[in-house]
Amino acid sequence: MREDQRETAEDPRRRIPRTDRLLALPEVERARAALGEHVVRGVVRAVQDRARGGHIAPEDVPAEVLRALGDRPSASLRPVLNATGVIVHTNLGRAPLSEPARQALLEAAGYTDVEFDLAQGTRSRRGAGVRTALLGACPDAEDALVVNNGAAALALTTTALAAGPERDEVIVSRGELIEIGAGFRLPDLITSTGSTLREVGTTNRTHATDYTDAIGPATACVLRIHTSNYRISGFTSAVPIAELAPICRDAGIPLIADLGSGLLTPEALLPDEPDIATALRDGADLVIASGDKLLGGPQAGILLGRADVIARLARHPLARAVRADKLALAALEATLAGPTAPVLEALRTDPEALRERTARLAERVDGRLVPHDGRVGGGGGAEVPLPGWAVALEPELATPLRTGDPAVVPTVREGECLLDLRCVPEADDDSLVEAVRAARDTLAGREERPTR
Ligand SMILES: *Cc1c(COP(=O)(O)O)cnc(C)c1O
Repeated sequence: MREDQRETAEDPRRRIPRTDRLLALPEVERARAALGEHVVRGVVRAVQDRARGGHIAPEDVPAEVLRALGDRPSASLRPVLNATGVIVHTNLGRAPLSEPARQALLEAAGYTDVEFDLAQGTRSRRGAGVRTALLGACPDAEDALVVNNGAAALALTTTALAAGPERDEVIVSRGELIEIGAGFRLPDLITSTGSTLREVGTTNRTHATDYTDAIGPATACVLRIHTSNYRISGFTSAVPIAELAPICRDAGIPLIADLGSGLLTPEALLPDEPDIATALRDGADLVIASGDKLLGGPQAGILLGRADVIARLARHPLARAVRADKLALAALEATLAGPTAPVLEALRTDPEALRERTARLAERVDGRLVPHDGRVGGGGGAEVPLPGWAVALEPELATPLRTGDPAVVPTVREGECLLDLRCVPEADDDSLVEAVRAARDTLAGREERPTR
C-alpha cells in the first residue's frame, strides 16, 4: 500500500467508535456512576488506542470497553493468598484481620461516634473503647494510647519526653540500634525527632554500670529496644528490664521498652519473645508495640504504661500528627475483644493437622508433600523455625500463580515452587487448587504459542 492511500475511507481505524458514542452506552453510563469520569474516559481511551494499534478489531471496541470497566477494581490493592508460610509478611500487609475486626472496620467506615458521646450529645475522648479494651487485655498498665504505627509511637515518645535541649538524651545500648526494614533505622528515627542518642555498652555486651554511668541531668529516658529481627549469640549480655527498672526509678528517669511484636502475654512457642504484660510487671514505665505484628490487628502503634507518661505523650502536639484513624481504632478494639487472631492461629498450627491438609492438597494438584518450616516474619521470633509442610510444584508455576486470580504468593526454593498452607485459610483450599490449575493452563497456553 502506498503511503497516500493509507488514510482512505477503507482505513479500518475510521471505524473505531468515537468517545462520545462509547460514553453514551447505557452500561458505560452506569459505570460512570461507580467509577468517576476520569477513570472511565481513561479506559475508553486505552481501548481505542489498542484498536488504533491494530491489537483489536474496531467492531470489538464497545464490548472491550464494557469488559475493561467490569474487571476494573475500585482500588489497585489485590487480595493475596499468602502461601509463603511467613506469618507477619510486611510485603503482604502483615496481620490479616479476624472476621470481627473486618466487620468493625466496615461499620466504622461511615459516620461513627469515634469522638462523640451519643447520650450527652457532647465531644468525648477519641478511642475510649479501644483504650478500655487495651487496659482490659493489659491490666498491668495504668493507661493506654494508640497512634499510627510503632515507629510513630517511638518518635512521639522520644519527642515528648525530651525536656528542652538540656535534657534530650535517649540512652540506648549499642546492641539494640537496629534497622527495621529497607533502610529505616531506629537510631535515625530517634535523632530525627531532635533527641540526642546516647549510645552505651558495645554491640555484644552492655552492663548495668553502662547505664548508671550514662544517666545524668541530660537524660530524657532510657530506651530498651527488642532486636526483633536479628540475634547476637556467643559472648553476649544485656540488662533485663527487671534489673534496669530500679536503676531508672532511683534516678527518676522513665524506662521505655520498645517490644515490636505486640505479644500481650508470654507465648510458649516463642520463648525468647518479650511480651507486654511481663515488661510492665518487670517495671517498664512505658511499653511500645505494633498493632499489626503478633497482636494480629490493624496497623497501629500501641503505648501502654504509667498514666503520667501517657498523659505527657497525649498532650504533645505531635500526638495529633500521628493519631490513629477510626478504621484502625475499630479494628484494633475488635481484635482485642475477639477470638484468637489469625496470626496466632497460624503460629499455633498443629504440624500434624497441617501435614494431613497439605497431603490432601498435594494429591489434588499433583504436587509432592515436603517438610517446610514456617516463620513468624516481621517483628518477632524472626529466626525461629515453625515445623510444617508444603506442596512442592514445578518452579515455572510461581509467576502465573502470583499474577493469577486469586493471586497466590509461593516460595521458590532450590528449583521448586512451594505452597505452605499455614497462612492460607482452610476455606480457601478449593480456590488454591483452582489457582494451580489455572496457572498450569496459562503455562500450557504460553508454550503452545511459539509453535503456532
Ligand atoms: C516493627 C518494629 C518497630 C516499628 O513498628 P511499625 O509498626 O512497623 O512502625 C519498631 N521497633 C521494633 C522493635 C519493631 O520490631
